[in-house]
Amino acid sequence: MSFKDLSLSREVLAGIEFLGYETPTPIQREAIPQVLSGKDLIAQAQTGTGKTAAFGIPLVERINPSIKGVQALILVPTRELALQVSEELRKLGKVKKLFVLTVYGGKPLQKHIDFLKKGLNSIVVGTPGRVKDLLGRGYLKLHKVRYLVLDEADRMLEMGFIEDIEEIISATPKDRQTLLFSATFNRVVTNLAEKFLKEDYGIIKIKPEDPTLESITQKVYQTSEKGLWEKLIRLLQAAPDSKTIIFTHTKREAESLSVGLREQGFKVEALHGDYPQKKRETILRKFREGVFYILVATDVASRGLDIRDVELVINYRLPKDSDSYIHRIGRTGRAGRKGTAISIMTDSERRYLSTILKRVKNRVEIYR
Ligand code: ADP
Ligand code: MG
Repeated sequence: MSFKDLSLSREVLAGIEFLGYETPTPIQREAIPQVLSGKDLIAQAQTGTGKTAAFGIPLVERINPSIKGVQALILVPTRELALQVSEELRKLGKVKKLFVLTVYGGKPLQKHIDFLKKGLNSIVVGTPGRVKDLLGRGYLKLHKVRYLVLDEADRMLEMGFIEDIEEIISATPKDRQTLLFSATFNRVVTNLAEKFLKEDYGIIKIKPEDPTLESITQKVYQTSEKGLWEKLIRLLQAAPDSKTIIFTHTKREAESLSVGLREQGFKVEALHGDYPQKKRETILRKFREGVFYILVATDVASRGLDIRDVELVINYRLPKDSDSYIHRIGRTGRAGRKGTAISIMTDSERRYLSTILKRVKNRVEIYR
């Protein structure tokens, strides 16, 4: 099957070609026709399987560039992801001349206001905080929204986001089409989501046996508190020049690890929510470009970020919940590539291990 079989316009097919995609991925094959048919959706597929284009392609197809005002709103949990999703939509909508505005905290409000005043943006991609802010000030008008997407939807419906999300959604028309995408959904989230979906909403679930998990080799090393650091160094030495993301529980640990690793001669940068936005963007760009090879990050980098050639993910301590584990390891092994995910843990995270093992069906080698 090719994209040509999906009844897309010439302009959108050109956008897809511009991205270099030849064959639709399973989630794209399933979701594109359903979105085009106007259905609300809950769509689940593993990390790195092309969910952005699965909603992006049909949206770009449906949006009418001659209508002024915001026709599609895409909400995402982090600033970095807002930029990445916007970039892909811009490429898809290039031939159709669609304007995509990215709004997120850490950028001057006035910039976003100036753009909104021009009224050209058919698609707005943003984080809930800034979207709510612009909405409250009356600069962002959502009464023309026909398409609403929550990317990383389960995260967006968690505490901390849900109140903003509810407020934003209530400013959009009731007859809009609503699309929820994520690699992970649970029963609670799905129940909560039903509030925002039409009764006849569709569910797409791409079987986890298919793509990504197979392409990621997973290992867990159990060690002592003191052993963590030594193990980390040995792992990094064993994989010289491999593009690596190390995940930590806290900003402080990200900071102290990056300082310690730099002292050991590694080319490394930290990334966490306390850094100013400009710095976050520069760090991520340099990591993408390969200026340095090791990124030490908190979960700000665990959701959705697509850095194609990440070869190794290291969890410095096991994450508390299995969703976080799934999203973190999914930063490697993307789009058909192979990757390795190594977790180093101490006894104090033992209680998290069994849930994670169950979740990934024990496809983990454990070393004590
Ligand atoms: P997800 O949101 O499922 O984690 P992304 O949308 O970030 O995945 O896409 C993962 C990677 O796969 C990106 O690098 C993207 O450019 C690439 N990709 C997406 N769709 C296709 C396709 N049809 N063919 C080739 N590569 C694709
Ligand atoms: Mg994604």
